[in-house]
Amino acid sequence: MHRQLGKLAAALLLAALPAAILAQAAAPPAGKRIAISIDDLPLDSRKPLDMAATQALNQQLLRALQDEKAKAIGFVNEDKLLRPGGIDAGVAVLQAWLDAGMELGNHNFGHLGLGQASLAQVQDAVVKGEAITRWLAARNQAPLRYYRHPYNQTGRNEDERRAFEEFLQARGYTVAPFTIEHDDYLYACVYEQLQDTAQRRERDTVVEEYLAHLRESVAVFETMSSELFGRQIPQVLLLHANRLNAETLPRTLAALRGLGYRFVPLEDALRDEAYALPAAASGRFGPSWLARWARSKGVKLSVYGQPDPGGLTAQLAGKLCQ
Ligand SMILES: [Zn+2]
Repeated sequence: MHRQLGKLAAALLLAALPAAILAQAAAPPAGKRIAISIDDLPLDSRKPLDMAATQALNQQLLRALQDEKAKAIGFVNEDKLLRPGGIDAGVAVLQAWLDAGMELGNHNFGHLGLGQASLAQVQDAVVKGEAITRWLAARNQAPLRYYRHPYNQTGRNEDERRAFEEFLQARGYTVAPFTIEHDDYLYACVYEQLQDTAQRRERDTVVEEYLAHLRESVAVFETMSSELFGRQIPQVLLLHANRLNAETLPRTLAALRGLGYRFVPLEDALRDEAYALPAAASGRFGPSWLARWARSKGVKLSVYGQPDPGGLTAQLAGKLCQ
């Protein structure tokens, strides 16, 4: 009896609720997962690296990740550590990542891509780019197991891709793919050049455009996942360590959470069977792995990658970021 009354009361209550609230309540937790990867540590900047500022910006990134309990991976360019008087500070940045429970990966020495440099040069850059990180990882009982290709160039052709992957595997590396990007380097470049107090309004506009672009981009990559797999695979977001992301990561992560995402380590995302699919050599361009899988599977998608940035950011990028 009580149970029936309870049901009736619940039905009446539901009937009385505004449609919008019902829709919200009815939307199941989507169970979507995303791994956060941040490239170009210790910092990607057009300006000469100020190590104190670099440390502070990394602290902001790490705080945002920890607040969301997101276990991210940071990919290191060790050439950026080799600054006279700056090595200790750079090592401290990497140590801070490990202390915060994050993982570090190799992004090679000098950010050499397989589009410009030879296979032998890039292989050298892998070895040269792991000296400090491997030492640090070992001291912290942390793994060093992922390699992120600069420019996401995986090879000029299949032979080169295969040869490089065999080399990476022999050194204990797994390639770190990504599936979602949203031109953060472009927004970051504009943002970094709008640091005067008088540019506050433009800077705020760039941030709003950046977050809107994130939402639009995520929607496109979700469509690609649906069309390819009939479901939402765990995504891997590609970000860069820069001032813009340091100052907006709390909002970026909140936006992703609002879209139904739960943050998972890269290792968990890569366990999905999607990541075992072949991804053809990238050539010069380094698109999302969703586009690569589509090509390998011979599937035609309705969309390929994020829309072009527009608005004030695109206008200013033409002037400031050539
Ligand atoms: Zn990079």
